[in-house]
Amino acid sequence: MRTQVAIVGAGPAGLLLSQLLGVEGVDSVVVERRSRAYVEARIRAGILESSTVDLLDAVGLGNRVHAAGDEHRGIYLQWPHERHHLDFVDLVGRSVWVYGQTDLTRDLGAARDAHGQQFAYEISDTAVHDIETEHPYVTYRDSAGVDQRLDADVVVGCDGSFGPCRSAVPERVRRTWERVYPYAWLGVLADVAPSTDELIYAWHPDGFALHSMRSATVSRLYLQVDAGASIDDWSDARIWDALAARLGHGQDGWELQRGPIAEKSVLPMRSHVSEPMRHGRLFLAGDAAHIVPPTGAKGLNLAVADVALLAPALVAMLRKNDPRLADAYSETALRRVWRCTHFSWWMTTMLHQSGDPFDAALQQSQLRWVTTSGAGAAGLAENYAGLPIGF
Ligand SMILES: Cc1cc2nc3c(=O)[nH]c(=O)nc-3n(C[C@H](O)[C@H](O)[C@H](O)COP(=O)(O)OP(=O)(O)OC[C@H]3O[C@@H](n4cnc5c(N)ncnc54)[C@H](O)[C@@H]3O)c2cc1C
Repeated sequence: MRTQVAIVGAGPAGLLLSQLLGVEGVDSVVVERRSRAYVEARIRAGILESSTVDLLDAVGLGNRVHAAGDEHRGIYLQWPHERHHLDFVDLVGRSVWVYGQTDLTRDLGAARDAHGQQFAYEISDTAVHDIETEHPYVTYRDSAGVDQRLDADVVVGCDGSFGPCRSAVPERVRRTWERVYPYAWLGVLADVAPSTDELIYAWHPDGFALHSMRSATVSRLYLQVDAGASIDDWSDARIWDALAARLGHGQDGWELQRGPIAEKSVLPMRSHVSEPMRHGRLFLAGDAAHIVPPTGAKGLNLAVADVALLAPALVAMLRKNDPRLADAYSETALRRVWRCTHFSWWMTTMLHQSGDPFDAALQQSQLRWVTTSGAGAAGLAENYAGLPIGF
C-alpha cells in the first residue's frame, strides 16, 4: 500500500489529523492496534477548551459538541468550608465544553467514513522504518494475520504513550523529561445526575477530589489515592463516603447525590515530554510526545493543538513543496506543550496532598490567591480555558 501520510494510532490526534489533511486533499491511511469499538468506548478525557471547539467549528465538526455538549463558564475551587467560583468568561472571555472523548472519537470516525478514509484496525507488530530517508514506511500484521507494508511520504506517530513511534527517534537525538507523582486518581463513572452545574476541584486534608460530569445523567468523579492503590480496596460505598467527605456533602446545604457506579479505574499520574517532535520524516503528535497529569484537563486538548499545527505544515510540505512549517513544527508545538506541562503540574501540586505540612500551607495560600485576586484568577482561567493554538 502507498499513501502520502501514514498515521499510527486512531485516537483523537490520529483521527483529527486525517480529517484536517483530508479536507486539504492530502491522503492518509490510519493504522490502529485496537478494534474500532474499543477505541470509541474508551473512557478518558471530557473537557474541551475553547481553542479545541473553535477548531472543530472551523472544520465543520463542532455541531454535535454544540448540540450534545454542555458549555461551562468556569469551575469551582474549594477547601473545607469555602467554595469559590471562577468565571472564565468574565475573567478572560473564554469558556470550556463538557464533551466526552468517546463522543469526539465517534464524531471524528463518522466524518472520516464520510470521506472514505482508509483504516486498518486490530493490527499488531507495528514498526516504522527508514524515517531518516525520503521513503519511510510502516509494517504491521493486519487483523487477518497477513504482514503488510505501508509506504508513505511521511509517518506520523499518534500512537499514545505506549506506542512504538516515540522510540523510533534515535537515542542520540531524543531528550526526555519525566515527573512521576506519588499519587494516582481513582476515576469513577456513575449513573447519577451531577450534583453541581460546573466542575468542583476540592482541596481536602484527606486528598484531592474532583466532581466532573459527562451528561445530565452521568457523573464523572475522581479521588486522589496512593500511587500503588488497588481498585479492590475501594468498594463503591468507600468511594462515595470519601467523595462526600472531600467534596463537602452537607456544607452550606450542598449535597452529593449517589448512584450506581458503572466503571472505576486507577489512573497513574505523570508528566512526560519527549523532544524533538520531528525526526527526519517521522512526526509525533499528542500523547506519543507528551503526557500530562489530568488535573488541568489538557491531554486531549494538547493532542488537538499539535495536529492543528501539524496538518497545515504537512499540507505545505506535501502539496506546495514548502518545508518551512514542517521544519518549525517541533519547536512551535513544544512551546505550548511546555506551557500546558507547567499548568498541569501547577494545578496538580496545588490540589493534591503530599503529606508535607509545609506544602499544605503553601497550597492554601495559593488557593486563596487564585480565588481572591483578579490577576491570580485570570492566570488560571487563561490556561484552563486554553491559550490560542500556536501560542
Ligand atoms: C487511561 C487514561 C485515562 C485518561 N483520563 C483522562 C481524563 O480523565 N481527563 C483528561 O483530561 N485526560 C485524560 N487522559 C488523557 C487523554 O485521554 C489523552 O491525552 C488523549 O487520549 C490523547 O490523544 P492521542 O490521540 O494523542 O492518544 P490516544 O488517545 O492514546 O491514542 C493513541 C492510539 O494509538 C493506538 N496505538 C498504540 N500503540 C499502537 C501500535 N503499536 N500500533 C497502532 N496503534 C497503536 C492506541 O490504541 C490508541 O488508539 C487519559 C489518558 C489515559 C491513557
